[in-house]
Amino acid sequence: MKIISLGWGVQSFTLAAMVALGELEPVDAAIHSDTGFESALTYEFAKRWTPWLEEHGVRVVTVKGSNGTLEEVSDVTRTTNKGFMKIPAFTEVDGVRQILPRHCTTEWKIAPVRRWLQANRNKQPVEQWIGISLDEMERMRYSDVKYITNRYPLFEKRIIRVACQLWLEKNGIEVPPKSACMFCPYHNKAGWIKTKSVPDDWRRAVAMDEHIRDMVDGRKNYLSHYLKPLTELDLSTPEENGQMNFFDCSGTCWL
Ligand code: SF4
Repeated sequence: MKIISLGWGVQSFTLAAMVALGELEPVDAAIHSDTGFESALTYEFAKRWTPWLEEHGVRVVTVKGSNGTLEEVSDVTRTTNKGFMKIPAFTEVDGVRQILPRHCTTEWKIAPVRRWLQANRNKQPVEQWIGISLDEMERMRYSDVKYITNRYPLFEKRIIRVACQLWLEKNGIEVPPKSACMFCPYHNKAGWIKTKSVPDDWRRAVAMDEHIRDMVDGRKNYLSHYLKPLTELDLSTPEENGQMNFFDCSGTCWL
């Protein structure tokens, strides 16, 4: 069984489009694990391009990793009286900035795909294609389960991210927006500028930022590594507009 981990970002969508146009062999499905927190731009893009992929023989499957609610960032069943933070938010301990452990990728992205695979693979081994390009090769990982083998077709083709964009444009295919949760703490300033440019994304990110503030006793938590509420960030720096980089999301978020 062959599947694409479809995050609807540039690289993973390029993989799916290459299959659709016959540049890569067929796959059984392109699976999107929907955190419920993607940017509105990503949901709109997926809505536009899912029919095209399906018409070209790429089955698109969406699995749910979260309900997309504020409560999804905490799990009070694991501790008492405290929230258990799932996202890698920032906090300050003894004057030192710290980033909290990340649980969201496993719970919201990896586990839902594996549940689908276990229900559908009929005990076959699975080749999972991941959209990591040559310029991001340090994010490649071996699978941590025996039934899945990770494969990186863009790396095999020695394609970098910009080349993916050029390939899409050359084939008359829309280039997708960067894919990540709209409140992802890995956003840098430019990423927050991008989030703010989509009013609904910004409203939800600000709500999440306020939701996590006092989730852990005695500490203040923030989405921004500046350790400030999002509403207090100076997001007006013009030279950062257009540089939509994020911190490394370690590959498993398939950005
Ligand atoms: S994009 Fe960020 S918040 Fe979303 S699952 Fe990945 S690490 Fe977590």
